[in-house]
Amino acid sequence: MANSIISSKALQSEAAAYAWVEARVWPNGPVCPHCGGFDRIGKMAGKATRIGLYKCYQCRKQFTVKVGTVFEDSHVPMNLWLQAMYLLCSSKKGISSNQLSRTLGVTLKTAWFMSHRIREAMRVVGVGPMGGAGEVVEVDETFYGKHEGHTKEKRQGHMNVVMTLVERGTGSARSFHVDGTRLADVAPVVRENIKRDTALMTDNAGWYTKVGREFASHETVNHTIDEYVRGNVHTNTVEGYYSVFKRGMKGTYQHCKEKHLHRYLAEFDFRYSNRVRLGVNDVERTERAVKGIVGKRLTYATPRH
Ligand SMILES: [Zn+2]
Repeated sequence: MANSIISSKALQSEAAAYAWVEARVWPNGPVCPHCGGFDRIGKMAGKATRIGLYKCYQCRKQFTVKVGTVFEDSHVPMNLWLQAMYLLCSSKKGISSNQLSRTLGVTLKTAWFMSHRIREAMRVVGVGPMGGAGEVVEVDETFYGKHEGHTKEKRQGHMNVVMTLVERGTGSARSFHVDGTRLADVAPVVRENIKRDTALMTDNAGWYTKVGREFASHETVNHTIDEYVRGNVHTNTVEGYYSVFKRGMKGTYQHCKEKHLHRYLAEFDFRYSNRVRLGVNDVERTERAVKGIVGKRLTYATPRH
């Protein structure tokens, strides 16, 4: 029989899904999210007991692995969460809430909240700057969608600016929704996210000239005179990233509100940074997203589902 991932137990049974998530979130056994205790914890059993329920005998409180994660307060069965995560992690150009709603048999509203919570799980936190001696980081920006309130023809000044840093080779991608292309908009992102001993490569946009001097080297290609590659100097890697991002935003998501743009960027960054070329397959990518559920909550109101 074919070894279909869709038939796997963790995607089919809620109990198996809990066990799968627990093994990733608690590699050394359950930890109480209320008091941090781990040595006096019992699994609740019995027919009337919720799946995945534990009791901490140190603080006498109950919990599941959902507490303190993006899944908290959600009534969506854990195997459906894993199905949604697998679909978002394995689809290079994303998966729309409409598609998710049909495939999972949940309402569009539920699918929408699930996908945003999964994007939150994909968001990278607590990482230091990228690059370093001998490394190349390509920096570029692209214009996406209109600012709210602008209905006229698309002009760059009316569009959202996305800035992306990609470390060449085995590196990752980091994208930011920035206010514009002034030095004050781009310089802090470059300074905070790239080590100074990195070789920087950009196009010849003027906003990188000044901040570029702070790095080991800064080389540019001049797109306005049709120069795209000069030896080792190019921005093809970051442009490759944008081509996937744009095809996904156009073909899958169709549009997104300005206030949510950073969430979609986190999603495309996550898949790029955990790509097949780095030896990460779809299941491993899903595992990494599951590990990202911990310690994150969405800040805007989320209805109960
Ligand atoms: Zn406790």
